[in-house]
Amino acid sequence: MHVRDQLYIDGKWIDATGKGSIDVINPATEEIIGKVPIGSSEDVDKAVAAAKSAFEMWSKSDINHRIEVLNALSNAFKERGEELAQTITAEVGTPIGYSRVAMVGTPRVVSRSYAKILEDFSWEEVVRNSLICKEPVGVCAFITPWNFPLHQIIGKVAPAIAAGCTMILKPSKEAPLSAFILADILDDIGLPSGVFNLVSGHGSEIGNYMSSHPDVDMVSFTGSTGAGVSVSQSAAPTIKRVTLELGGKSANVALDDADPILVAKKAIGACHQNSGQTCSALTRLIIPEEMSEQICEIIAAKNNSYLVGNPLDENTRCGPMVSSRQQSSVTEYIQSGINEGATLISGGLGMPDGVAKGFYVKPTIFANVTSEMKIWKEEIFGPVLVITTYKNESEALSLANDSIYGLSGGVWSASNERAIEFAKKMRTGQVSINGGAFNVSAPFGGYKLSGNGRELGTHGLDEFLEIKSIQM
Ligand code: NAD
Repeated sequence: MHVRDQLYIDGKWIDATGKGSIDVINPATEEIIGKVPIGSSEDVDKAVAAAKSAFEMWSKSDINHRIEVLNALSNAFKERGEELAQTITAEVGTPIGYSRVAMVGTPRVVSRSYAKILEDFSWEEVVRNSLICKEPVGVCAFITPWNFPLHQIIGKVAPAIAAGCTMILKPSKEAPLSAFILADILDDIGLPSGVFNLVSGHGSEIGNYMSSHPDVDMVSFTGSTGAGVSVSQSAAPTIKRVTLELGGKSANVALDDADPILVAKKAIGACHQNSGQTCSALTRLIIPEEMSEQICEIIAAKNNSYLVGNPLDENTRCGPMVSSRQQSSVTEYIQSGINEGATLISGGLGMPDGVAKGFYVKPTIFANVTSEMKIWKEEIFGPVLVITTYKNESEALSLANDSIYGLSGGVWSASNERAIEFAKKMRTGQVSINGGAFNVSAPFGGYKLSGNGRELGTHGLDEFLEIKSIQM
């Protein structure tokens, strides 16, 4: 049992003033595996005051010191990698192999990437008679989701440390445990008091309070579009910088010269990774009419044998949904696909075979999905792939762009040039060509209702910087 009964503020573990605690539930066993305190607005005030006072020192800290901190953080993720992977698998239900690589391996690489960026980052440039200086934006508030809990946190904490900002983190209530391990690590590394502060609690209470706080200069939010709107509204009166990483419903498009077998084989993993609870998952597959039969046949067969079950089993590909609420929500979407007349080609309602408890759903594939259907339009956030067909490339493009979101995407073609031309016309923040791998140094973020701003790489660092022009 992971019982954390204090908040990390100003370099010390202190009692929360909010009442009670939040239970952390293992979604595979439905058992309570941890508890974290409920922070109040009073706790947020203390954390903001600590961050404000530490900003004076940390904003002027030696760049080599920041590089050392970021490298030490990366090393600690390596040393405590198995503990972190097991903890995240216990709180999120992510299959353990994927947890090691994506949940812990990625934050390890991202932390190191910011140390590397700092080695030759240019803080000043001369433009005609002006000296342009980059300076840390100030005190930052971070509100993060449960689906990639540590990765979403490090995508903010690492560039903020690099920039010289100070911060208050509020992790999700479903998966807060890795954030507490992070606080332990930053304390062990010797990050100066007040630079990083951790306050757990309810988003609707302290999340909004943090966003509206007059002493917070920037709020960086990752989560649902609805909560992102609420954060923006709370932040508006204080004109703070707001960056938002929100939902997605990304298109995976096979052009007519693509290899249908490859498209079919890769489509499932691209949708079902982290049990489908991935904001950038490629959840809408758009294929030429003439390839439909072959692709659907391969996908259905692959999905039928997609291993669902205990996330601690090394062979498991799909674990449970994070919560009973998420399980119900995904189930309602599957029911809605059936009701609206989409063709269910694999999966469907109910628990997967051989699974008796836990918040599981069956990985599910719908074909003949039309753009009026709810399962086409809305983010399901579960292992549900929807497939539609097109007659010509312009129809493929309008289907790809037929979304309120624009976070990610995929294009398949025998010609990289042709795929790149198509990708450029997609209204989305990232596109993978022929399965191109995720790059931790490439900017990540959304068009349209998928958000504002970019994380990762130098673009992610820029979000934490103010720009000053000094005319000479
Ligand atoms: P959520 O919006 O319910 O919660 C995210 C965080 O916001 C949590 O810490 C929560 O406590 C807090 N919160 C909730 N309501 C709030 C409010 N009114 N004011 C301030 N804070 C509030 O989202 P979730 O269910 O944890 O995560 C799933 C969503 O996150 C999906 O829509 C997914 O696409 C999105 N997501 C986006 C990215 C990205 O980078 N674009 C990454 C991961 C997840």
